[in-house]
Amino acid sequence: MVGRVMESLSQDPDVIVIGAGAAGLSAAKALRAAGLVTNVLEAANHVGGRCVTDTTTFSTPFDRGGSWMHSANINPLARQAEAVDARLHKTEWSLTAAHCFDRTLEGEDFADYSAYEDVIWNVASGVKEGTVDTTVDAALPFSPWKAPAKHLISTMDGADADMISLHDTAAYDWGDDSDWLVEGGYGAFVARMHADVPVKCGCPVTEIRHGGATPEVVTPEGTLSAEQVVVTVSTGVLGAERIRFEPSLPVDTLRAIDQLPNGLLNKVGIEFDPVWQEAVLGDRFDFHANSDQFVTLFFGFYGTGLATGFIGGRCADQLEQDGPGAATALCRDSLRSFFGSDIEKMILKTTETAWRSDPLTLGSYSYAKPGGAGARQMLATPVNDRLFFAGEATMPHSYSTVHGAWLSGQRVAQEILAVRSKGN
Ligand SMILES: Cc1cc2nc3c(=O)[nH]c(=O)nc-3n(C[C@H](O)[C@H](O)[C@H](O)COP(=O)(O)OP(=O)(O)OC[C@H]3O[C@@H](n4cnc5c(N)ncnc54)[C@H](O)[C@@H]3O)c2cc1C
Repeated sequence: MVGRVMESLSQDPDVIVIGAGAAGLSAAKALRAAGLVTNVLEAANHVGGRCVTDTTTFSTPFDRGGSWMHSANINPLARQAEAVDARLHKTEWSLTAAHCFDRTLEGEDFADYSAYEDVIWNVASGVKEGTVDTTVDAALPFSPWKAPAKHLISTMDGADADMISLHDTAAYDWGDDSDWLVEGGYGAFVARMHADVPVKCGCPVTEIRHGGATPEVVTPEGTLSAEQVVVTVSTGVLGAERIRFEPSLPVDTLRAIDQLPNGLLNKVGIEFDPVWQEAVLGDRFDFHANSDQFVTLFFGFYGTGLATGFIGGRCADQLEQDGPGAATALCRDSLRSFFGSDIEKMILKTTETAWRSDPLTLGSYSYAKPGGAGARQMLATPVNDRLFFAGEATMPHSYSTVHGAWLSGQRVAQEILAVRSKGN
């Protein structure tokens, strides 16, 4: 994983940024470019947060969090990757096979299952004006394939279709719907593009006192103050009150945090012997072990033998609670179902994530509860021009993504510069 040399803190910063994920790094870079002294405090011993590349487990880099540059035509990080001539993999991914309970789908069944996925995306991306918000599940039409196919939502949104707001889902901007990979990993790329941003790692913030003229931030290194403080931690961390706010946050901010829980997406990385070529870059396999357990497997990352199983929503939570190895076992079951038991001999190594148990994220990314579509805007509203919130959860059209987090950092930097220019 990408580490970062400990930097000493400025004792008199203009701005303190809490968290060195995509949002915090982006905000700090923009603020520093505008000439503001900016301290970035990060609790973990690495930068990147939920976008971090593991370079030690496999022979190929493995993004434990964000890996795809989604919506490349509207993704500013894709523009940056092009500008530095990073190698990009632009292959389109598509469903190759699906296994439902006790059989692999064939002929018409496979076609109907696949077609229902299109129904899901159509429903999830368009709502009639003036309609009352509901769950995505409630808006999906009946089909014998509805129950299994809608599990795919949980691997996109980190929560099941009956938990999430239709209006919030429909507000997401898919752009051209592309999913690019950047050679070397998305986390490594984001870290590289922000290598000039000093970060104090291993520095957890425990309290923010924002009642006075100059907010104070309490850390084990001491208490720091600055005119503005940017908070980029996940809504999981905010909701669990891992950081104490004094005075308490405004009711609207608290309501927004409650309406934007952190969902769960976990990944299982699987490295195959390169001689095994039965599934390649762009192939996707859906596996429904039973009505509750679902994994979708993507093969051939960067054109290598690296595959990733994606498990989301309640299923991911249950498997994470079941303990280490449970998610990997589901992936192994799926591989045996599709390719026969000899596939086991081709597996060189595996790893799995457990984002719910990570105390610095407490989940993967935010989803909105039904009725909570306006919460992202509410969370993004600054408190008294001193306390600012950024991070993926604050972005109504690009939440749950790395580029959304990065854009939120740019937004918050502009807001701070505007406030400061007003004051001068
Ligand atoms: C499994 C998974 C797959 C994903 N896939 C994709 C994908 O393919 N494409 C995509 O675009 N997005 C994807 N995402 C989402 C994307 O990774 C996130 O939306 C994005 O990285 C969030 O960035 P952020 O800056 O908002 O938050 P974070 O990355 O969470 O940054 C917040 C930082 O705050 C730190 N912190 C927490 N508490 C404290 C504290 N008390 N004091 C100081 N620091 C603290 C954390 O350690 C963290 O570094 C995925 C996420 C996961 C988990």
